[in-house]
Amino acid sequence: MFKTDYAPLARPAILPDANNRSGLPAFASVGDVLHAYEGDDAIFVLYPKKIAAAARTFLNGFPGKVLYAVKANPHPAVLKTLWTSGVRNFDVASTREVELVQSIAPSAKLFFMHPVKSRAAIRHAYAAGVRNFSFDSADELQKMLEETGYPDDLSLHLRLALPKGNAAMPLSGKFGADRATAVDLLKAARPHASQLGVTFHVGSQCLEIEDYDRALSYVRSVLDNAGIEIDSVDCGGGFPVAYPGMKPSPMADYFSAIRNALTVHGFAGLEVLGEPGRALCAQGGSTLTRVELRKGRDLYLNDGSYGSLFDAAQCAWKFPVKLHRASPRLAQANEDFRFFGPTCDSLDVMEGPFDLPADVQEGDWIEVCHLGAYGQALSSRFNGFYSETTVAVMA
Ligand SMILES: *Cc1c(COP(=O)(O)O)cnc(C)c1O
Repeated sequence: MFKTDYAPLARPAILPDANNRSGLPAFASVGDVLHAYEGDDAIFVLYPKKIAAAARTFLNGFPGKVLYAVKANPHPAVLKTLWTSGVRNFDVASTREVELVQSIAPSAKLFFMHPVKSRAAIRHAYAAGVRNFSFDSADELQKMLEETGYPDDLSLHLRLALPKGNAAMPLSGKFGADRATAVDLLKAARPHASQLGVTFHVGSQCLEIEDYDRALSYVRSVLDNAGIEIDSVDCGGGFPVAYPGMKPSPMADYFSAIRNALTVHGFAGLEVLGEPGRALCAQGGSTLTRVELRKGRDLYLNDGSYGSLFDAAQCAWKFPVKLHRASPRLAQANEDFRFFGPTCDSLDVMEGPFDLPADVQEGDWIEVCHLGAYGQALSSRFNGFYSETTVAVMA
């Protein structure tokens, strides 16, 4: 049965915090959220200050224009927080993402960086003022030119497939032109582009800084093959987050490696773009999920792989966890636990192991951290289990 008596926050302890421009009910702590909550579902938490801090890191350090990759977390509160933090450019991939960003930040500059778009999406985006588009095939180039009416104000970004790198999640298997195709496409696109650029994605959660240098070196060699000058180079996303068991170098090291590679490979003077998704919002979101039953070391929760824990299930990522309970008990040693989500599907299991106090029990809440990117954004309504409550915690 679906729950029909869902009660939203009955006593939102809204803080008079001038820094909370997220539009969400805001609380001082997770404890305050749980104290006020009367619903039965998991709760998504956003930490606007952490998102703002990540935005500042990129705006101050990345050697180019920062485009937020909206798919990582399209929640309006995330978009508002990034906008008020100074992010002015957004990487979108669908008509709905165009409309969403424009509804929140009408003057945002949008880059439609999906190399395969419907004709209707191209028409809609162009009419909505979008001028930056990506492509990786002659047919897509043709489609874009036809649907925009061969205008003289298009910025076209050729998506290159990269030789295989070391990212946790490679993103060159589906999109991107190979070297020979890229050479042809650069020549074909140049006469139609007021600005011509090259874009790539080293793969999400890229733990090898050198991958950016390798990618930029590859871009240079493709351009030399083509004998075509470009106006911009887009380093894509891939900037990593410190999930448990992974130790990425500091973001400043990524920025200086990219800055250096841009110079070495002859891109000084070009417009530089970057498209961080994960790195801007992963640490700014977590999920509060309640233990419904304990069977030994197995905890049955009200959020799972069809909720915000997709990567915990599919990639066996061990997200950081914290226990929250109403009345503190004596401190206990920690033990390893496995999680099961609420749906009836056997795939709904998160092996972890997740390190929690040995006496965790039914009714306790577990905060699963670092789910602000590709966690909350992926949650579905499968089997009638989902969170309808997102709050801001101003910590
Ligand atoms: C998903 C995506 C991004 C964001 O990647 P992250 O690894 O989250 O930084 C950027 N650009 C494109 C084209 C994408 O598809």
